[in-house]
Parts: sequence; structure tokens; C-alpha cells
Amino acid sequence: MITFYPGPSKVYPQVADYAAEAVQQGIVSLNHRSAGFMDVVKETVRLLHEKLAIPANYHIALVSSATECWEIVAQSLTKTSSLHPYSGAFGKKWAEYAYKIKPPVSLNEADVLCLVQNETSNGTQVSMETLAQFRQDFSALIAVDAVSSMAGIQFDWSLADVWFASVQKCFGLPAGLAVLIYSPDALKRAEEIGENAHYNSLLFIHENFAKFQTPYTPNGLGIYMLMRVLQQVPPIAIVEKITKKRASDWYSFFAGSGSDLGLRTGLSDRAEAAVNLLINDPALRSDTVIAVEGSEKTIKDIKQAAYQAGIILGNGYGDWKNTTFRIANFPAITDEEIGTLMAFLRSY
Ligand SMILES: *Cc1c(COP(=O)(O)O)cnc(C)c1O
Repeated sequence: MITFYPGPSKVYPQVADYAAEAVQQGIVSLNHRSAGFMDVVKETVRLLHEKLAIPANYHIALVSSATECWEIVAQSLTKTSSLHPYSGAFGKKWAEYAYKIKPPVSLNEADVLCLVQNETSNGTQVSMETLAQFRQDFSALIAVDAVSSMAGIQFDWSLADVWFASVQKCFGLPAGLAVLIYSPDALKRAEEIGENAHYNSLLFIHENFAKFQTPYTPNGLGIYMLMRVLQQVPPIAIVEKITKKRASDWYSFFAGSGSDLGLRTGLSDRAEAAVNLLINDPALRSDTVIAVEGSEKTIKDIKQAAYQAGIILGNGYGDWKNTTFRIANFPAITDEEIGTLMAFLRSY
């Protein structure tokens, strides 16, 4: 089977070897305060800075999930309350989690702006231009959920203070680990608040990571596999070029491209009559998750036929559960796999 599920998603095939290495070399049995383990953490953090072009003064910690990052932002970085302009299911969930910890107050009292850069549920994204506008209009901290885009496209990191992603999407790794990136201003905010009541309080995490350690026994296997995948992948500028080219190919495939061929899509006549891109405005369309809409029956039939052809399409999510399917455009997916899915849709 080949999978286009947008999380958990296809892992790099090399991950199987990396996992075996971690066991054979005893990495998974190392004490997490030992020099050998600290070297792995240190190298992983160095590679994240290098391969993702993260500014040297931004700190990096490794935690368990993006959901944990939502809570860390609420408990350790939010003084009064956070603001959550959202357009889909993940943004909504983040607001719900945050408000359990810091209940909502009036808009102008919010001191953290929380944005989902890539809304995995409906295939929309916040562009760097829009983020720059938020940065200009909002003086407090900005936290960005980039779970389904980090390591797939490039960001202007300076436009936000907190960025995070779990690794089961664009990083091409199994779930159970997340990357948390925070600016000097975010650290300053954490110090002002002084919240130290949790195992995952940011100050406590920061203190540990300054020594390349973690507050609790970490997912050593996941960290090792992340280090090995980062060694293998090209710099983000190159990854982004590929991601954007593939995204543009997918959007022309579904919407038709305005060349001398006219507005022909790549779809079969039957598929063309039955499905549409969920997002009409090209400026809002995600580079890493493509959402395709149709009637419940059409979506069900296409997913089923794809499955029979050895292809797993992503189910819809939240409000779009039964009326869309989603296609991950993540770096671990190969051109050949994309070709197989396009051929399937061309002949459906
Ligand atoms: C998948 C996803 C999450 C949840 O990640 P977990 O690792 O399950 O916590 C959060 N936000 C977005 C945008 C996602 O795509």
C-alpha cells in the first residue's frame, strides 16, 4: 500500500534501518543523562538549526506532541489569555485546550496570538505575508502550530516567537515526538510569568535542554531517528522547492491549468464532474495538504476504489469528514507514488 494520509503519514523507508541501528548500538538503552545520549540530543538540535535554517538565537526543545505544545503555550507563556483566530478543526481544538487552562477574556487583554500555519483539516495555510501583517498589528507573543508544514516549506522564523510541530507529518517519522522552537522574547515571557508547576513547564524544559537533557525519560528512539532523518534530508530551501512544485502540479491536476490545453484537469471525465478542490482561493491553499471535496457517496467510492488499487487517501477531518478526502504532499512521498495516484485519478 502507498499512503497519502496527512498524519500519521508515510515515514522515510530508511527509518526502519535507523530504528534497527538505535537498538543494535544500544542508543535506546542509554541513560538519558549520559554523555552518549546528550551527544545525540545536541546533534539533533544542531541539525534542526542547520537543515531548517532556524536562527541561532531561537531555542529548541523536544517534547512529546503538538497537543503538549498547545498546553505549554497556555500554562507557561500566557499571562492572561490567548487569542485564536482559526479556520479549521485543529485551530478550534487548540483554542479549546488553551481555554481550559487560561479561560478567554476580552480581545484586547489577550497576550498571546495563536495561529495554525497549516490547517490540516481543510488544506488552508497562513502565508508569510499574512503572518508579517499579524506581527505588525499585534505587539504580544505569536505562537504558531506548524505541525503539517514544518520541514516541508520554509518559514520566516522571526515572524513568530513560538513554532512547533510533531514529527509524524512532514518530518516523515513515527509519532511520539515534537519539536518546540522559541525565541528569546518567548523565554523572557516565561521568566516573567515564572510558571514552574508542571513537569513540562517551559522554564524547566529550558533548564534541562541547556544541558541537552530532558525533564523526564525521553523518547530516545524517536530522537535518534529524527537525528538520522535530518542528516539525510536536504536543506529546507531545496525541500521547499520540491514541495511547492508538487503542490502546484496537484492544484493544476484538480483545477485545470490555463495553458494552451485550455482548462483541462488531469482527472477522468467522471471524476472531474464529481469532485472539486475544497479551497477556491489559490492564496489560501496549503502546499502540504490538498483537500478535495465531493458528495459523501463520491468521496466514499473514490477512497474505496483507491484502496483497492493499493492507495490510501486521507479521510476528511472535522466538519469535512465525509465530504472530502485529503492528499498529503509531504517530502517522504516519492514522485513515483504521486504518479501512481495521478494515474488512478486519471482513469477513475
Ligand atoms: C496533527 C496535528 C496536530 C496534532 O498533533 P499531535 O502530535 O497529535 O499532538 C496539531 N495541529 C495540527 C495542525 C495537526 O495537523
